[in-house]
Amino acid sequence: MYNPRVITIASGKGGTGKTTATANLGTSLALLGKKTIILDADIAMANLALILGMEKSKVTLHEVLAGEADIRDSMYKGPGGVIVVPCGVSLSGFQKANPERLQDVMIELLKGTEFLLIDAPAGLSRDGVIPLAVADEVILVVNPEISSMADALKTKIMTEMVGSRVSGAILNRANFEKTDLSMREVEKILGVKILEVIPEDPEVRRSTAFRTPIVIRSEDSPASVAYRRLASKMAGETFVEPELEREEGVVSRFVRSIFGE
Ligand code: ADP
Ligand code: MG
Repeated sequence: MYNPRVITIASGKGGTGKTTATANLGTSLALLGKKTIILDADIAMANLALILGMEKSKVTLHEVLAGEADIRDSMYKGPGGVIVVPCGVSLSGFQKANPERLQDVMIELLKGTEFLLIDAPAGLSRDGVIPLAVADEVILVVNPEISSMADALKTKIMTEMVGSRVSGAILNRANFEKTDLSMREVEKILGVKILEVIPEDPEVRRSTAFRTPIVIRSEDSPASVAYRRLASKMAGETFVEPELEREEGVVSRFVRSIFGE
């Protein structure tokens, strides 16, 4: 039996990259052979299924949280073998969904699962706080700017108030510009460790347009490498940096050319 880890990807501020992180970390973990589920708990503004091209799924978390469907009927096979629990996008679906049911439906999801990643909504309303409360650990996704810090800090405090813990943060969309907050500054302000720095990468938007996670569409692009590195860390596996692979390629090519192979 696996010991499942429930990880909620949260931020406070909207648009920091939670959904992108959930999709790409989930897909990377699945590609590493880990039994992984990603669940869209942004029940008001769901878009995880949209970026994966799975928005036509009939039964979603909305119907499950409304008590109208079984959670097992809302699980779909996604890219790389990750299991996706999508959420509907209609306003009526949101109105009938009761977020308090999340904890109960999770029990079924955790059977035979190693990682359950929950894509949390922005903000600290009821549907935002429940995903924090049900998590074993919360990962904050922040951008290197001060407004992002304030909201992330509130989310961290709320996480602790509901008895959960923040295991670290992802510093996303780093441009490495002078005006950007540095990794060290972010760690100091939030009082949490930066687990990975994800660079600003135009491939992220392109992958969204192609409805395919960047780790599949463009596995060696800068953001992909960072997501895959973090997933390996989460899975306790060593990550082979693609640059090193390329360097090895050059060296072995050189050796081959010397020996005329
Ligand atoms: P959230 O779920 O926090 O609201 P999203 O994951 O939907 O955020 O991302 C918001 C926007 O930022 C999307 O348009 C996405 O393509 C873009 N984005 C996210 N991460 C990056 C990145 N590392 N580089 C470039 N664009 C990014
Ligand atoms: Mg989102």
